[in-house]
Amino acid sequence: MPLGFSMKEMKDNKRILVLPGDGIGPEVCKEATTILELVNEIHSLNLSFSEALVGGSAYEATGEPLPQDTLKAARESDAILLGAVGGPKWDELDYQYRPERALLGLRSELDLFANFRPAILSKYLTSSSSLKANKVENLDLLIIRELTGGIYFGEPRGRTEGKKEAFNTMIYNQDEIERIGRVAFEAAQKRNKNLCSVDKANVLEVSVLWREVITELSKEYPDVRLSHMLVDNAAMQLVREPKQFDVIVTGNLFGDILSDIAAMMTGSIGMLPSASLNSENKGMYEPVHGSAPDIAGKGLANPLATILSAAMMLRYSFGLDKPATQIEMAIDKTLEQGFRTYDLEGSEEQKLGTREIGQKVIDNLQNLK
Ligand code: NAD
Repeated sequence: MPLGFSMKEMKDNKRILVLPGDGIGPEVCKEATTILELVNEIHSLNLSFSEALVGGSAYEATGEPLPQDTLKAARESDAILLGAVGGPKWDELDYQYRPERALLGLRSELDLFANFRPAILSKYLTSSSSLKANKVENLDLLIIRELTGGIYFGEPRGRTEGKKEAFNTMIYNQDEIERIGRVAFEAAQKRNKNLCSVDKANVLEVSVLWREVITELSKEYPDVRLSHMLVDNAAMQLVREPKQFDVIVTGNLFGDILSDIAAMMTGSIGMLPSASLNSENKGMYEPVHGSAPDIAGKGLANPLATILSAAMMLRYSFGLDKPATQIEMAIDKTLEQGFRTYDLEGSEEQKLGTREIGQKVIDNLQNLK
């Protein structure tokens, strides 16, 4: 299972597939890849890199947002670093050709069922948070969202013929709940041993099963304190007292919404990394933000979420905790020095572009050696 990592199982050569995608994707991926290359050199990690097309840029070149060649390369890799996909140019395409279809395709083809979304507020960005400083100081919570089931994938879905009526189906089976539950209990064991399972068990039958399975599973993890919370209350509690949470586990739909709420506590969407893992620790790592067409090509994008995603890759897919921590420390140092990108609050003199802030992180990383 993810996190139950054994170094012996890891092959020597670690193949990373970079999928830059659209908009600011290539700009932020470039900075993250440069940093991965640097830690590769410093620590002799034996990382190798290849690149492929995805999203709108893949559609332009091949007529498909997720070409077979890209899928093959993704299957053959040990981890994927993805920038972002999408943009107004492709908004009118049929659903099957939309760039976002590539993400769903990669998630389901690689069975990336466990989505990790940490919301960590750097102490140097407390004033950038949308909540008061005393509510978010030292915030460090982890949302684990089930990613390949639930209402986004449930069948049947569609329109009722002749009626202005549409429907989707929310389905979870015991195995799906159990495997995401295990990931969450194991993650909680490695943190503050506090797990909150979020559902809507007062209304939805799916949630009643969810609660039953998670409760049963908790018997195997007696060291973890388990609580249950209804999703509407969880949304409120996240804004009222976010530091009460350590790890949250929830289904696909609720996780999508709750993790965006948590996102705003960390200052900017440009700071949020994510990881989606399968049961062999293979993962796709990507910033939470999209392709930001409004700033694409201007060199203004904040690359820190993508660099933090690369650090998560080293930790979760390769068990390389030390270089991952060093990357995080180099980012923290950069923020401590007062450097900011344009999406973050700070003095105008210390605002930097994508390349420049990437270079500051590199300089700080080299000084850590
Ligand atoms: P977005 O995240 O791209 O942008 C929202 C706002 O945040 C914009 O003002 C943008 O400039 C800013 N922003 C985002 N990332 C930033 C960064 N790294 N640095 C500085 N500012 C940043 O969301 P959107 O505008 O709703 O979507 C744009 C496109 O991205 C759409 O086509 C959407 O479908 C796609 N999208 C893709 C993903 C993904 O690839 N995982 C996720 C969300 C949206």
